[in-house]
Amino acid sequence: MKVFKFGGASVKDADAVRNVGHIIAQYTGEKLLVIISAMGKNTNKLEELVEAFWKNETEKKQQIIQELKDFHFKIANDLIADPKHHIFSDLEDLLMELECVVEKKYNNVSYDEIYDGIICYGELLSTKIVCDYLQSIDTKIKWVDARNFIQTDSNFREGRVKWAETEETVKRILKPYIDRSIVITQGFIGRDEHNNTTTLGREGSDYSAAIFAYCLDAHDVTIWKDVAGVMNADPKQFAEAVKLESINYNQAIELAYYGASVIHPKTIQPLKSKNIQLNVNSFININAIGTAVNNTAPALTKECYIIKDKQTLLSISTKNYSFIAEDNLSAIFDAFAKFKVRINVMQNSAISFSACCDTKEDKINEMIKALAEEYIIERQTDCTLLTIYNAKKENAIPGFLNTKKVMLNQELGMARQLVLA
Ligand code: ASP
Ligand code: MG
Repeated sequence: MKVFKFGGASVKDADAVRNVGHIIAQYTGEKLLVIISAMGKNTNKLEELVEAFWKNETEKKQQIIQELKDFHFKIANDLIADPKHHIFSDLEDLLMELECVVEKKYNNVSYDEIYDGIICYGELLSTKIVCDYLQSIDTKIKWVDARNFIQTDSNFREGRVKWAETEETVKRILKPYIDRSIVITQGFIGRDEHNNTTTLGREGSDYSAAIFAYCLDAHDVTIWKDVAGVMNADPKQFAEAVKLESINYNQAIELAYYGASVIHPKTIQPLKSKNIQLNVNSFININAIGTAVNNTAPALTKECYIIKDKQTLLSISTKNYSFIAEDNLSAIFDAFAKFKVRINVMQNSAISFSACCDTKEDKINEMIKALAEEYIIERQTDCTLLTIYNAKKENAIPGFLNTKKVMLNQELGMARQLVLA
């Protein structure tokens, strides 16, 4: 059994969807589960809708729903000529449901909960279109709602998978369907025990593919991307970037952890535990060999560069000049965990603790407020985090970052990490 995952770029317009159809058509004899993300940049559009909902901007909400409607209807129209085809009423239904979600009056709903309730429509709309298109060209394929299978806790926007329940349902209910025909479903979304939609975190569809593959004991997972495979650097920034033929699970986990954007950090673990190979292939160049992630790949010999922009560097010291030791560290870490500020790199000296994190203003502001009574906090925004994995050269900061000042420098294991501002 195989699991394929197609991201937003691979279904961004009608031609892209046709290309996906072309790829899937080559596997009609196989047991195949296809996971699809929201089309193009529609998850960002839906995030705007969440904002408009939260700020109670009625016109803005209507305008965004109209834009979503125009976008998806245009693709559906391009793909399916018959105006009476049920795809059009299916899309209407979904969009009406979404309208109800954003127009409803709630007594007490958290931002994160409503976020998941709204954001899931990107994947729902997208999979409907791709499925109906494929059926219209005579591919035997069935649409299922991923929320019936991926069960999570109620940690909205970052749902934690309930593995035992998920595996049981996938094996008992989903597997027999895949034995009969190709099945298509959504990435990124799940459901908690109260029947609320949850999500697995932005870019979580790869993780969905890994979860399904794990539960199905799949042979392999293929992520179809607009790049040739996993590269040792972003080719948009590094002209000399090259594709990595293969990576072993552990190094892939490390690269993902440091922010290699091609691999979602949580994706590898479930695959590794069942020795399921991950292929990263190009949907543009279907027959080209991409990157294989497995347990037999030799250790990487190439230097890998990973750049994360939009970073904030926080330096935290005590007001009473006490050392940053266990007790203070524990209070500081508690605050990071409580306000969900994820640390990308950290360092501590006698009297100060530094952490580089993604710039999520609202969460950082709240955390600083909570810590301000006991700590002095300095904040430097607009930083870049450069990770050089397998660093070979002494000074390997790439030219285009050379004008920046090194704020933090750390070498641990195979990674050299620099925070630049
Ligand atoms: N559509 C979601 C996102 O853009 C999930 C994904 O694409 O993996 O974050
Ligand atoms: Mg996406």
